[in-house]
Amino acid sequence: MPQAPTYSDVEQAAARIEPYAHRTPVLRSRLINEELGADVVFKCENFQRMGAFKFRGAFNALSRFTPEQRRSGVVAYSSGNHAQAVALSASILGIPATIVMPHDAPPSKVAATKGYGGEVISYDRYTEDREEIGRTLAAERGLTLVPPYDHPDVIAGQGTASRELFTEVGELDALFVPLGGGGLLSGAALARSALSPDCQLYGVEPEAGNDGQQSLRRGEIVHIDTPKTLADGAQTQHLGAYTFDIIRREVTDIFTATDSELLEGIRIFASTMKIVVEPTGCLGFAAVRARAADLRGKRVGVILSGGNIDAARLAALLPA
Ligand SMILES: *Cc1c(COP(=O)(O)O)cnc(C)c1O
Repeated sequence: MPQAPTYSDVEQAAARIEPYAHRTPVLRSRLINEELGADVVFKCENFQRMGAFKFRGAFNALSRFTPEQRRSGVVAYSSGNHAQAVALSASILGIPATIVMPHDAPPSKVAATKGYGGEVISYDRYTEDREEIGRTLAAERGLTLVPPYDHPDVIAGQGTASRELFTEVGELDALFVPLGGGGLLSGAALARSALSPDCQLYGVEPEAGNDGQQSLRRGEIVHIDTPKTLADGAQTQHLGAYTFDIIRREVTDIFTATDSELLEGIRIFASTMKIVVEPTGCLGFAAVRARAADLRGKRVGVILSGGNIDAARLAALLPA
Protein backbone atom coordinates (compact mmCIF):
# COMPACT_ATOMS: atom_id res chain seq x y z
CA MET A 1 0.00 0.00 0.00
CA PRO A 2 1.38 3.47 -0.86
CA GLN A 3 2.44 5.66 2.08
CA ALA A 4 -0.09 7.87 3.84
CA PRO A 5 0.05 11.48 2.61
CA THR A 6 1.70 14.27 4.62
CA TYR A 7 1.59 18.06 4.37
CA SER A 8 4.64 17.94 2.11
CA ASP A 9 2.51 15.97 -0.39
CA VAL A 10 -0.09 18.74 -0.22
CA GLU A 11 2.60 21.31 -1.06
CA GLN A 12 3.81 19.22 -4.01
CA ALA A 13 0.22 18.79 -5.20
CA ALA A 14 -0.26 22.57 -5.01
CA ALA A 15 2.73 23.09 -7.32
CA ARG A 16 1.46 20.42 -9.75
CA ILE A 17 -2.08 21.77 -10.07
CA GLU A 18 -1.19 25.46 -9.95
CA PRO A 19 -0.98 25.98 -13.75
CA TYR A 20 -4.33 24.22 -14.32
CA ALA A 21 -6.61 24.76 -11.29
CA HIS A 22 -8.31 28.00 -10.29
CA ARG A 23 -7.24 29.67 -7.09
CA THR A 24 -10.83 30.01 -5.89
CA PRO A 25 -12.06 33.15 -4.15
CA VAL A 26 -12.60 33.48 -0.41
CA LEU A 27 -15.87 35.35 0.18
CA ARG A 28 -17.44 36.98 3.24
CA SER A 29 -20.95 38.26 3.84
CA ARG A 30 -21.52 41.15 6.22
CA LEU A 31 -25.14 40.07 6.64
CA ILE A 32 -24.21 36.49 7.56
CA ASN A 33 -21.52 37.71 9.95
CA GLU A 34 -24.00 40.02 11.69
CA GLU A 35 -26.56 37.28 11.97
CA LEU A 36 -24.09 34.72 13.37
CA GLY A 37 -21.94 37.14 15.39
CA ALA A 38 -18.83 35.52 13.92
CA ASP A 39 -16.27 36.26 11.21
CA VAL A 40 -17.03 33.61 8.59
CA VAL A 41 -14.87 33.03 5.51
CA PHE A 42 -16.16 30.88 2.66
CA LYS A 43 -13.66 29.04 0.42
CA CYS A 44 -15.64 28.92 -2.82
CA GLU A 45 -14.83 25.65 -4.58
CA ASN A 46 -18.11 26.04 -6.46
CA PHE A 47 -15.92 28.28 -8.66
CA GLN A 48 -13.27 25.57 -9.17
CA ARG A 49 -12.86 24.06 -12.67
CA MET A 50 -15.71 21.62 -13.38
CA GLY A 51 -17.53 23.17 -10.43
CA ALA A 52 -16.06 21.40 -7.41
CA PHE A 53 -12.84 20.83 -5.45
CA LYS A 54 -12.53 17.32 -6.91
CA PHE A 55 -10.48 18.66 -9.84
CA ARG A 56 -7.63 19.16 -7.36
CA GLY A 57 -7.30 15.53 -6.27
CA ALA A 58 -8.03 14.00 -9.66
CA PHE A 59 -5.54 16.20 -11.51
CA ASN A 60 -2.85 15.56 -8.91
CA ALA A 61 -3.37 11.79 -9.13
CA LEU A 62 -3.45 11.64 -12.94
CA SER A 63 -0.40 13.86 -13.33
CA ARG A 64 1.59 11.23 -11.40
CA PHE A 65 0.78 8.42 -13.89
CA THR A 66 3.72 6.73 -15.62
CA PRO A 67 3.87 7.01 -19.46
CA GLU A 68 2.57 3.42 -19.59
CA GLN A 69 -0.42 4.24 -17.36
CA ARG A 70 -1.16 7.35 -19.43
CA ARG A 71 -1.29 5.32 -22.63
CA SER A 72 -3.61 2.64 -21.21
CA GLY A 73 -6.04 5.03 -19.54
CA VAL A 74 -7.87 5.72 -16.30
CA VAL A 75 -11.08 4.33 -14.80
CA ALA A 76 -13.08 6.01 -12.03
CA TYR A 77 -16.42 5.44 -10.30
CA SER A 78 -18.39 8.40 -9.02
CA SER A 79 -21.85 9.81 -8.37
CA GLY A 80 -20.79 12.86 -10.31
CA ASN A 81 -18.11 15.35 -9.39
CA HIS A 82 -15.18 12.93 -9.24
CA ALA A 83 -16.29 11.63 -12.63
CA GLN A 84 -16.15 15.09 -14.14
CA ALA A 85 -12.87 15.80 -12.38
CA VAL A 86 -11.21 12.67 -13.76
CA ALA A 87 -12.67 13.21 -17.24
CA LEU A 88 -11.47 16.83 -17.37
CA SER A 89 -8.03 16.04 -15.93
CA ALA A 90 -7.66 13.13 -18.37
CA SER A 91 -8.58 15.33 -21.32
CA ILE A 92 -6.03 17.98 -20.25
CA LEU A 93 -3.32 15.31 -19.88
CA GLY A 94 -4.31 13.34 -23.02
CA ILE A 95 -5.31 10.19 -21.09
CA PRO A 96 -8.31 8.03 -22.17
CA ALA A 97 -10.99 7.97 -19.40
CA THR A 98 -13.70 5.42 -18.55
CA ILE A 99 -16.20 6.54 -15.90
CA VAL A 100 -18.65 4.34 -13.95
CA MET A 101 -21.66 6.49 -12.95
CA PRO A 102 -25.00 5.69 -11.25
CA HIS A 103 -27.92 5.65 -13.71
CA ASP A 104 -29.72 8.28 -11.58
CA ALA A 105 -26.76 10.70 -11.39
CA PRO A 106 -27.78 14.33 -12.04
CA PRO A 107 -28.10 14.75 -15.84
CA SER A 108 -25.84 17.80 -15.86
CA LYS A 109 -23.05 15.76 -14.26
CA VAL A 110 -23.41 12.91 -16.78
CA ALA A 111 -23.49 15.37 -19.69
CA ALA A 112 -20.44 17.24 -18.40
CA THR A 113 -18.49 13.99 -18.01
CA LYS A 114 -19.29 12.98 -21.59
CA GLY A 115 -18.53 16.52 -22.74
CA TYR A 116 -14.99 16.17 -21.37
CA GLY A 117 -14.57 13.08 -23.53
CA GLY A 118 -15.09 10.40 -20.89
CA GLU A 119 -16.72 7.05 -21.79
CA VAL A 120 -19.63 6.64 -19.33
CA ILE A 121 -20.74 3.20 -18.06
CA SER A 122 -23.85 3.31 -15.85
CA TYR A 123 -24.92 1.10 -12.95
CA ASP A 124 -27.64 0.92 -10.30
CA ARG A 125 -26.33 2.54 -7.12
CA TYR A 126 -28.83 0.72 -4.88
CA THR A 127 -28.13 -2.83 -6.12
CA GLU A 128 -24.70 -2.93 -7.80
CA ASP A 129 -21.21 -2.50 -6.32
CA ARG A 130 -19.42 0.28 -8.17
CA GLU A 131 -16.07 -0.58 -6.63
CA GLU A 132 -16.28 -4.07 -8.06
CA ILE A 133 -17.32 -2.76 -11.50
CA GLY A 134 -14.35 -0.37 -11.41
CA ARG A 135 -11.91 -3.09 -10.36
CA THR A 136 -13.18 -5.45 -13.08
CA LEU A 137 -12.80 -2.80 -15.79
CA ALA A 138 -9.32 -2.00 -14.52
CA ALA A 139 -8.29 -5.66 -14.70
CA GLU A 140 -9.94 -6.43 -18.07
CA ARG A 141 -8.80 -3.29 -19.90
CA GLY A 142 -5.50 -2.58 -18.13
CA LEU A 143 -6.79 0.73 -16.79
CA THR A 144 -5.56 2.48 -13.66
CA LEU A 145 -8.30 3.01 -11.08
CA VAL A 146 -8.38 6.42 -9.40
CA PRO A 147 -10.72 6.15 -6.41
CA PRO A 148 -12.80 9.19 -5.38
CA TYR A 149 -11.26 9.66 -1.94
CA ASP A 150 -9.13 6.85 -0.51
CA HIS A 151 -5.85 7.51 -2.30
CA PRO A 152 -2.80 9.46 -1.05
CA ASP A 153 -2.55 11.59 -4.23
CA VAL A 154 -6.27 12.39 -4.16
CA ILE A 155 -6.14 13.38 -0.47
CA ALA A 156 -3.03 15.53 -1.03
CA GLY A 157 -4.75 17.27 -3.96
CA GLN A 158 -7.92 17.97 -1.98
CA GLY A 159 -5.75 19.39 0.83
CA THR A 160 -4.71 22.23 -1.47
CA ALA A 161 -8.15 23.88 -1.02
CA SER A 162 -7.65 24.32 2.73
CA ARG A 163 -4.01 25.22 2.17
CA GLU A 164 -5.09 28.12 -0.05
CA LEU A 165 -7.66 29.21 2.53
CA PHE A 166 -5.15 29.31 5.41
CA THR A 167 -2.46 30.99 3.33
CA GLU A 168 -4.96 33.67 2.29
CA VAL A 169 -6.75 34.41 5.59
CA GLY A 170 -4.26 33.19 8.23
CA GLU A 171 -5.14 31.05 11.20
CA LEU A 172 -8.75 30.23 12.08
CA ASP A 173 -10.54 29.14 15.25
CA ALA A 174 -12.64 26.52 13.45
CA LEU A 175 -12.97 25.00 9.98
CA PHE A 176 -16.12 23.19 8.75
CA VAL A 177 -15.72 20.73 5.86
CA PRO A 178 -18.33 18.66 3.98
CA LEU A 179 -17.73 14.94 4.47
CA GLY A 180 -18.44 12.04 2.12
CA GLY A 181 -15.60 9.52 1.93
CA GLY A 182 -13.24 11.92 3.67
CA GLY A 183 -10.75 13.01 0.99
CA LEU A 184 -11.56 16.70 1.43
CA LEU A 185 -11.59 16.46 5.23
CA SER A 186 -8.38 14.46 5.60
CA GLY A 187 -6.65 16.83 3.16
CA ALA A 188 -7.91 19.74 5.27
CA ALA A 189 -6.45 18.02 8.35
CA LEU A 190 -2.97 17.92 6.75
CA ALA A 191 -3.16 21.64 5.89
CA ARG A 192 -4.57 22.56 9.30
CA SER A 193 -1.77 20.79 11.19
CA ALA A 194 0.86 22.73 9.28
CA LEU A 195 -0.78 26.14 8.90
CA SER A 196 -3.28 26.60 11.74
CA PRO A 197 -2.52 23.97 14.37
CA ASP A 198 -4.95 25.36 16.98
CA CYS A 199 -7.91 25.43 14.57
CA GLN A 200 -10.74 23.05 15.50
CA LEU A 201 -11.59 20.88 12.52
CA TYR A 202 -15.11 19.57 11.91
CA GLY A 203 -16.51 17.24 9.26
CA VAL A 204 -20.18 17.59 8.34
CA GLU A 205 -22.17 14.81 6.68
CA PRO A 206 -25.84 14.27 5.79
CA GLU A 207 -27.93 13.11 8.74
CA ALA A 208 -29.28 10.22 6.64
CA GLY A 209 -25.73 8.96 6.08
CA ASN A 210 -23.78 9.56 9.29
CA ASP A 211 -21.34 6.67 8.87
CA GLY A 212 -18.39 9.02 9.49
CA GLN A 213 -19.81 10.16 12.82
CA GLN A 214 -20.51 6.55 13.82
CA SER A 215 -17.00 5.53 12.75
CA LEU A 216 -15.39 8.29 14.84
CA ARG A 217 -17.46 7.29 17.91
CA ARG A 218 -16.73 3.57 17.55
CA GLY A 219 -13.09 3.84 16.51
CA GLU A 220 -13.59 1.69 13.41
CA ILE A 221 -14.94 2.17 9.89
CA VAL A 222 -18.73 1.71 9.91
CA HIS A 223 -20.46 0.67 6.66
CA ILE A 224 -24.03 1.81 5.87
CA ASP A 225 -26.49 1.39 2.99
CA THR A 226 -26.44 4.12 0.34
CA PRO A 227 -28.22 6.98 2.14
CA LYS A 228 -31.14 8.82 0.54
CA THR A 229 -30.29 12.52 0.78
CA LEU A 230 -30.27 15.69 -1.32
CA ALA A 231 -26.49 15.71 -0.79
CA ASP A 232 -25.63 13.48 -3.76
CA GLY A 233 -21.90 14.22 -3.37
CA ALA A 234 -21.88 12.63 0.10
CA GLN A 235 -23.86 9.42 -0.48
CA THR A 236 -20.83 7.34 0.42
CA GLN A 237 -21.26 4.14 2.40
CA HIS A 238 -18.01 4.23 4.36
CA LEU A 239 -14.78 6.13 4.95
CA GLY A 240 -11.54 4.74 3.51
CA ALA A 241 -8.48 3.27 5.22
CA TYR A 242 -6.32 6.35 4.57
CA THR A 243 -9.05 8.90 5.23
CA PHE A 244 -10.28 7.25 8.44
CA ASP A 245 -6.77 6.98 9.83
CA ILE A 246 -6.22 10.73 9.39
CA ILE A 247 -9.75 11.69 10.48
CA ARG A 248 -9.68 9.65 13.72
CA ARG A 249 -6.40 11.31 14.76
CA GLU A 250 -6.99 14.87 13.56
CA VAL A 251 -10.66 15.76 13.44
CA THR A 252 -12.28 17.46 16.45
CA ASP A 253 -15.78 16.10 15.75
CA ILE A 254 -18.25 15.17 13.02
CA PHE A 255 -21.67 16.82 12.80
CA THR A 256 -24.69 16.11 10.62
CA ALA A 257 -27.12 18.28 8.65
CA THR A 258 -30.67 17.51 7.50
CA ASP A 259 -31.89 18.00 3.93
CA SER A 260 -34.03 20.94 5.05
CA GLU A 261 -30.96 22.62 6.59
CA LEU A 262 -29.14 22.14 3.27
CA LEU A 263 -32.08 23.70 1.41
CA GLU A 264 -31.95 26.69 3.71
CA GLY A 265 -28.25 27.02 2.88
CA ILE A 266 -28.92 26.93 -0.87
CA ARG A 267 -31.46 29.75 -0.43
CA ILE A 268 -29.17 31.89 1.71
CA PHE A 269 -26.25 31.49 -0.70
CA ALA A 270 -28.46 32.38 -3.68
CA SER A 271 -30.26 35.32 -2.10
CA THR A 272 -27.59 36.82 0.19
CA MET A 273 -24.32 35.97 -1.55
CA LYS A 274 -25.68 35.54 -5.12
CA ILE A 275 -23.84 32.25 -5.55
CA VAL A 276 -24.96 28.76 -6.57
CA VAL A 277 -23.93 26.01 -4.15
CA GLU A 278 -25.02 22.39 -4.59
CA PRO A 279 -26.72 20.61 -1.64
CA THR A 280 -23.55 18.76 -0.58
CA GLY A 281 -21.63 22.02 -0.69
CA CYS A 282 -23.96 23.46 1.97
CA LEU A 283 -23.08 20.88 4.66
CA GLY A 284 -20.41 22.98 6.39
CA PHE A 285 -22.52 26.12 6.55
CA ALA A 286 -25.53 24.18 7.87
CA ALA A 287 -23.44 23.01 10.84
CA VAL A 288 -22.13 26.54 11.45
CA ARG A 289 -25.68 27.93 11.56
CA ALA A 290 -26.79 25.18 13.95
CA ARG A 291 -23.84 25.94 16.26
CA ALA A 292 -23.80 29.74 16.01
CA ALA A 293 -24.02 30.13 19.80
CA ASP A 294 -20.68 28.33 20.26
CA LEU A 295 -19.01 30.27 17.45
CA ARG A 296 -19.74 33.85 18.58
CA GLY A 297 -16.70 36.11 18.15
CA LYS A 298 -14.72 33.36 16.41
CA ARG A 299 -12.95 33.23 13.05
CA VAL A 300 -14.67 30.43 11.19
CA GLY A 301 -13.75 28.86 7.84
CA VAL A 302 -16.31 27.03 5.71
CA ILE A 303 -15.48 25.02 2.60
CA LEU A 304 -18.20 25.42 -0.05
CA SER A 305 -17.22 22.23 -1.84
CA GLY A 306 -19.14 22.52 -5.11
CA GLY A 307 -21.80 24.20 -7.19
CA ASN A 308 -22.99 21.55 -9.62
CA ILE A 309 -26.77 21.49 -9.60
CA ASP A 310 -29.12 21.45 -12.58
CA ALA A 311 -30.70 24.87 -13.10
CA ALA A 312 -34.20 23.36 -13.19
CA ARG A 313 -33.59 21.52 -9.93
CA LEU A 314 -32.20 24.66 -8.32
CA ALA A 315 -35.28 26.61 -9.42
CA ALA A 316 -37.56 23.91 -7.99
CA LEU A 317 -35.74 24.05 -4.65
CA LEU A 318 -35.90 27.83 -4.30
CA PRO A 319 -39.06 29.40 -2.88
CA ALA A 320 -41.43 31.05 -5.36
C1 LIG B 1 -17.18 14.56 -3.27
C2 LIG B 1 -17.81 15.75 -2.67
C3 LIG B 1 -17.84 15.94 -1.28
C4 LIG B 1 -17.28 14.91 -0.31
O1 LIG B 1 -15.89 14.76 -0.46
P1 LIG B 1 -15.12 13.50 0.14
O2 LIG B 1 -13.70 13.72 -0.21
O3 LIG B 1 -15.71 12.28 -0.48
O4 LIG B 1 -15.39 13.51 1.61
C5 LIG B 1 -18.37 17.10 -0.78
N1 LIG B 1 -18.91 18.04 -1.62
C6 LIG B 1 -18.92 17.89 -2.95
C7 LIG B 1 -19.51 18.96 -3.79
C8 LIG B 1 -18.37 16.74 -3.53
O5 LIG B 1 -18.37 16.60 -4.86
